[in-house]
Amino acid sequence: MPVLEKNETEVLVIGGGIAGASTAYHLARHGRAVTLVERGGIASEASGVNAGSIGSIGWGDEPDLQSYLTMGSLQIFKTLQLDAGCDIEFRQSGSLQAIQTEAQYDFIRDKVLRLRSEGYSIELLSTREARAVEPKASPDMLGFALSPFRAQADPVKATQAFAAVARREGAVVLTHREVTTLREAGDGSYRIGTSEGELRAGALVIAAGAWCGPIGEMLGLRIPIVPVRGQMWATGSVSPSVYHTISAAESELQWHGDAGDGTPPDLTHRDGRRVTRHLYGRQTRQGEIVFGGDRQSAGFDKAVDTDGIEVNRGQAVEVLPFLSRLPIERTWAGLMPFSPDGKPIIGRIPLRKNLYVVTGLASSGFGRGPMAGKLLADYIHSGHMPQPLAEADPARCVTDAG
Ligand SMILES: Cc1cc2nc3c(=O)[nH]c(=O)nc-3n(C[C@H](O)[C@H](O)[C@H](O)COP(=O)(O)OP(=O)(O)OC[C@H]3O[C@@H](n4cnc5c(N)ncnc54)[C@H](O)[C@@H]3O)c2cc1C
Repeated sequence: MPVLEKNETEVLVIGGGIAGASTAYHLARHGRAVTLVERGGIASEASGVNAGSIGSIGWGDEPDLQSYLTMGSLQIFKTLQLDAGCDIEFRQSGSLQAIQTEAQYDFIRDKVLRLRSEGYSIELLSTREARAVEPKASPDMLGFALSPFRAQADPVKATQAFAAVARREGAVVLTHREVTTLREAGDGSYRIGTSEGELRAGALVIAAGAWCGPIGEMLGLRIPIVPVRGQMWATGSVSPSVYHTISAAESELQWHGDAGDGTPPDLTHRDGRRVTRHLYGRQTRQGEIVFGGDRQSAGFDKAVDTDGIEVNRGQAVEVLPFLSRLPIERTWAGLMPFSPDGKPIIGRIPLRKNLYVVTGLASSGFGRGPMAGKLLADYIHSGHMPQPLAEADPARCVTDAG
């Protein structure tokens, strides 16, 4: 490792969400001098306000990027909880997806058959079978898809754990420090202006979630990340009542084949009008039942839309009728980083020297961020792109701002 001055580092990571914290941790494990800079606290944006669902259905017979990101992240979460001494409230609870109409049943049955033939772990349960493992599920459902690998963890504790183990491995983690300017020096290194003075780095990782666009602009680049508002609500603490993570099939059927047409795919609203209802949630270890679903493109606005919360609660009550007796105690919203084609953007930005990005993790970045950070750290350390990242190549969409 080169001798570094106090304000110098080999790799500087912008963003203390799960993507940046995991990248910093894995770079530090490789023995790299790494500094993470976060303008708020660790997990102060999407990575701290999400539902804590971890999505994975197995490696499949021919693992693709999605298999690596989900199953790799599952292993990393397990290691944090079971081996690294970090209680992140991880639990491989499995997930149940509720089927409410005949059309949804046909769609999910075909999906389950296809995924099983490709080597993934997913089952179709009758409502009676589902109620044997999730007793408060509504008997009025037509069935459920069970994904046994799906899991859950506390988002704030998990993201902060990555920053803590990164520090343990030697990373410098600077919070409440905003990156305000970026300048590429002639030798391919970077000068980073922050709210508390200048830093220098041999390489830069942009892990700024929904704010990757403004960070890219500082370097004359267009990183096409669209902030998408997700919102949630929670009941007060109640005794253990919901055991799996819970979702519903309505939105998946609606979004099947949605290409987005230049805007991000898989949104609940188009042109200000609702196109579907989306539902996901779980019960936390403290006993709160948290649910959410709406995904709207509304710029950087994080105000909660109460009508959307009511629609979401209505669907949650259809799936778990006992929720009708529990008042909503709090609501909140956060911004997810969506790319126009819905795929992650992870890797080297070839338009500049020593510049990397990890983003576009969309609505499932909590469950995919740990492995996204590891794959990028492996890339930076080895100089070779891990094969699964070919699908996430930034060269497909990051351009000069012009
Ligand atoms: C309501 C909601 C529910 C969700 N539910 C789930 C779920 O159940 N499961 C799941 O897998 N995913 C879920 N997600 C998605 C998931 O939270 C995100 O995909 C993921 O957290 C993105 O992580 P990130 O590190 O890329 O971004 P972020 O967590 O947003 O981190 C980016 C960080 O960059 C920092 N930053 C920005 N600009 C600067 C600057 N100039 N200087 C310094 N720092 C800067 C920000 O402060 C921020 O902390 C949900 C998201 C929301 C909003």
